[in-house]
Amino acid sequence: MRQEWISAKRIVIKIGSSLLIDTEAGTPKTEWLDALADDIAKLHADGKEVIVVSSGAIALGRNALKLPKGRLKLEDSQAAAAAGQADLAHAYGGAFRKCGLVAAQVLLTLGDTEERRRYLNARSTITTLLKLGAVPVVNENDTVATNEIRYGDNDRLAARVASMMSADCLVLLSDVDGFYTAPPGSSSDVRRLDEVVEISPEIEAMAGDVGSDLSRGGMVTKIEAGKIAVQAGTHMVIASGKGLNPLHALTTVGIATWFLAHSDPVTARKRWIGGTLELRGVVTVDDGAAAALASGNSLLPAGVISAEGRFDRGDAVAIHSRDGVEIGRGLAAFGQVEAEAIIGRKSSEIADILGYVGRPELIHRDDMTLNRKG
Ligand code: GLU
Repeated sequence: MRQEWISAKRIVIKIGSSLLIDTEAGTPKTEWLDALADDIAKLHADGKEVIVVSSGAIALGRNALKLPKGRLKLEDSQAAAAAGQADLAHAYGGAFRKCGLVAAQVLLTLGDTEERRRYLNARSTITTLLKLGAVPVVNENDTVATNEIRYGDNDRLAARVASMMSADCLVLLSDVDGFYTAPPGSSSDVRRLDEVVEISPEIEAMAGDVGSDLSRGGMVTKIEAGKIAVQAGTHMVIASGKGLNPLHALTTVGIATWFLAHSDPVTARKRWIGGTLELRGVVTVDDGAAAALASGNSLLPAGVISAEGRFDRGDAVAIHSRDGVEIGRGLAAFGQVEAEAIIGRKSSEIADILGYVGRPELIHRDDMTLNRKG
């Protein structure tokens, strides 16, 4: 068994429609789903947190609404997703309940992972669900997504979710058992790679062209997902989900392709916050707060002396000590106007001051990186 899998604490599992839906009957494959639920319950029992990203809404809904086969018009696929998502959630809810798990439906639109303000919301809701022991079951909110504003495929959605949630491992379950040097069947010396240490141009070329039919195993989108995951410090694995208990098979047999990340998700996230974001403001903290941050705590409004700049919730700000030295950076949980109103005040007063229940901290410690002392 691979070390990456043994040590993974938080895992995202992407499930393709073809595994879950009997397309002829237009219904979920209940035996397969029950076995998957069983696998997930075992991972839970091992102390792992699991997030599922599942397709299948459109496949289920087109049957329920008796829509024609073939490519659907946008309105029809949105309608199909609305009808099918209800059935999909029902199927997961039922299968998980039998194993003592709670399925929690989360529908995301592109902005939920790409816009920083909404990103904090999606991240904290999913974190809460995990803390409560639930299994978030995520899909794209296809009913309101149009072509310009969609992830487009669930490989990419799953990678965005894995990166947003600082997952250790992303498993793409589909009908192929890994990544091949060329589309399977295209020549005689095609072989499956056990691991990909770097997604090089050669690897990308092996995935085939977007337009070619042979790349229809979806390798192009899987490589795109791999890039997102690996950059976020998440290992990605492509494995077959065709048989029953595919996660158990990954543990015991292990036929798959691993795309290896070279840092852990926390380091990658801190690097992202510390290095790549444009700073929109400065919060200056008192000595007590500076010491609290140094010992790993979040920044509470009570320890902040000033909040300057033009930042919104989710924007990156610098954290300065009283003498104006930058001691770190972080994502603000409040915009500048709200921050100004609550600085110096106790977290318990925030709701009264702002008129709504916000976060208790101005910058959560997971959203912060501190400069090392020189
Ligand atoms: N969100 C789509 C659905 O639930 C699937 C998209 C995909 O599989 O890539 O039907």
